[in-house]
Amino acid sequence: MEKISPLWKVEDSDSQADTLRSLIDQADATVIGVGAGMPAADGFSYVGPRFEDNFADFIEKYHFYDMLQAFLAKFEDWSEYWAFESRFVLLNGIDQPEGKLYHHFQQFLENNHYEYTILNTNGDNTLEKAHFDKDRVFNYQGQFSRMQCSKFCTPVTYRDDDLIRKMVRDQRNMRVPEDLIPRCPNCGAPLEVNKRTDQGMVEDAEWHREEKNYHDFLDKWNGKKVLNLEIGVGHTTPWIIREPFWKMTKANPDAMYVMVNQKDYLIPDYLDGQKVRLNGDIAQVIGQL
Ligand SMILES: [Zn+2]
Repeated sequence: MEKISPLWKVEDSDSQADTLRSLIDQADATVIGVGAGMPAADGFSYVGPRFEDNFADFIEKYHFYDMLQAFLAKFEDWSEYWAFESRFVLLNGIDQPEGKLYHHFQQFLENNHYEYTILNTNGDNTLEKAHFDKDRVFNYQGQFSRMQCSKFCTPVTYRDDDLIRKMVRDQRNMRVPEDLIPRCPNCGAPLEVNKRTDQGMVEDAEWHREEKNYHDFLDKWNGKKVLNLEIGVGHTTPWIIREPFWKMTKANPDAMYVMVNQKDYLIPDYLDGQKVRLNGDIAQVIGQL
């Protein structure tokens, strides 16, 4: 085992959950970054039957290899866009049940009265369904259950679950009726799913409230014994969780960085003494906390 800052005791246990539990317990506060690997570990997979059973027609037409690629695809027009997205939103953002792993994690954090905040890059409903405290969550990448103006004309998002259900129910041949396509109340442009793309994202008042809460938390614990914990973060958007977590850890000699991921992503040498890699199955590392 590599040399670790004397401030932290890293348990040399066979169980990575034991190691992680001990680190969270030693920390004054834990900053948790949650990426796509966490819902996948909880059974909410973007490949396999969950994808194939719900989108066979779209897969046949576009040869999508997973639900994320499909979610971000360019469709023929708004009618086809909403035929796909209404099903996607209902599946992942509205009707997706509470996950066992998320439930366990929420109970673990709350029952032990830990100080924590969550930076979440998943647009699904996993944290909401598991009753995570909204004041502790920053949904950086938007929410599938919400809609934004496709022209980004106003910093407002909209939620209409009944309309989503109606679009799922009334679509035929991968098209929703024109009159069901949601429109921006301000400029009349079609609404789209609230998400970040190259064009940007509508960041509404709730987004800014969450951003402030998150940064207030970081400020409050700045310089203290902080655990920067990333779980299931992939390689597509390292500038949201991974790189800021590295930077925060480096800037605070009393901080520790933990990567929970089965993939051996590089962790820079400048974090020597302040990094722990837990490469076990996320379902076990988090599920056995
Ligand atoms: Zn608009």
